[in-house]
Amino acid sequence: MAEIAIVGGGPSGAMCGEQLARAGNTVHIFDEKLGWEKPCGGGLTYKATQRFPFLLDNPHPKKLIRQVEIIGAENQRVRLDLQQPIVVYSRTVLNGMLRDRASEAGCQIHHSRVQKVDTAPDKPRYCVEGEWSTADFVVLAAGARNSYLPGIRALSKHELEITQGYFVPQTAEEIIIKFLPEFEGYIWSFPRADHLSLGICGSMAAHTSTELKTHLHEFAAKEKFSTENAQFYSHVLPSPQESTLSNRAVMGRNWALCGDAAAWVYPLTGEGLYYAMRSGELLGRALAEGCPEKYAARVRASFSGELEFASRMVRRFYRGSFLGSAVTTRMVQFLRRNAVFRQLMGDLFCGTQDYGTLTQRALDHLGGTLSQFVSSVLNVDGAEAKVPTVRAAD
Ligand SMILES: Cc1cc2nc3c(=O)[nH]c(=O)nc-3n(C[C@H](O)[C@H](O)[C@H](O)COP(=O)(O)OP(=O)(O)OC[C@H]3O[C@@H](n4cnc5c(N)ncnc54)[C@H](O)[C@@H]3O)c2cc1C
Repeated sequence: MAEIAIVGGGPSGAMCGEQLARAGNTVHIFDEKLGWEKPCGGGLTYKATQRFPFLLDNPHPKKLIRQVEIIGAENQRVRLDLQQPIVVYSRTVLNGMLRDRASEAGCQIHHSRVQKVDTAPDKPRYCVEGEWSTADFVVLAAGARNSYLPGIRALSKHELEITQGYFVPQTAEEIIIKFLPEFEGYIWSFPRADHLSLGICGSMAAHTSTELKTHLHEFAAKEKFSTENAQFYSHVLPSPQESTLSNRAVMGRNWALCGDAAAWVYPLTGEGLYYAMRSGELLGRALAEGCPEKYAARVRASFSGELEFASRMVRRFYRGSFLGSAVTTRMVQFLRRNAVFRQLMGDLFCGTQDYGTLTQRALDHLGGTLSQFVSSVLNVDGAEAKVPTVRAAD
């Protein structure tokens, strides 16, 4: 039995705390903004609902979405039907539910900012409101803006995305994803129970905030989303490179990172909720078993391979071309023409199709050009799409 301090009560910290408290440990979770609407789409795919069925099976307000409209850079549109719904939460609701589970399991939740963390002594120390306390282990689950990285480098702007958006007081029944010309990122509209999360993400190294805002406002006006009385948000999102995912330390002898603090976000889409919850769960279990050293290996076995795979694909997807047009433009054209490809992409989007078996499914069920397209985006057998040099903003 140990005393664990968790900095951050978001999905990763709450999940970690729940596991630890259930195993009889004393757990303190500190969050400076308890109950806030964290800037986020709030969308969870089948991967998450399959692993954590309580995400569907609860009385809290949420929206189940079964259709996605994709709009290409040249404004061609296509609609995908999803075999499994994407469940979309307000983050106040999702965080509250996860925190209640942690509290019911026995965690002590504190609405406070952790000002400093010192992992140099055998027992790590942390400072809240000027007072230092010790614990047996400290979990750093403080999100993407986390400044507590004991002895490891912070992500550079090449591994971060800027995000901006609005919580729009409107409802809708489908998700919209919009690609833009020469743009590493996308615009989204995620309908929630009583509003929409409308936003844009783009590489911090390649784009400016002004560029993002202009694109978002143009899209909102075109699609008739009113941002006039809507609350604006902005945040950063990790988009880790392969070397960071494979080499960066995520734990030391008395500390560990989880969720966004560890940069575990799917680089192609910005999906991070599943990885936050899963890494919190894996860390909590490893610590509860008295084997913290098993954490990194379990993360590797569970999901870091898929994040590394996606990190290799990002630039090809957003900047590459296929048969003379941008990959995203070609993708929308092919989706409009081919129902089997639409089904495949719908499955990929909602999380029932993984990347491991994607190429084989494409080869088995799609024609030559389409399976070549899939292989080239995934870079299978060296069939790499043409990727131009990326313009650096600095
Ligand atoms: C605009 C945007 C859209 C997104 N959309 C999606 C989506 O649709 N689907 C998806 O899966 N992912 C999405 N993500 C990613 C997702 O939001 C994150 O991956 C997820 O929130 C990570 O959870 P976490 O617990 O690791 O960190 P966070 O949710 O960031 O939680 C960290 C917590 O730590 C607290 N904290 C920080 N510093 C301190 C301190 N010093 N003391 C005390 N408390 C502290 C903060 O208050 C916060 O509550 C999106 C991200 C952004 C920015």
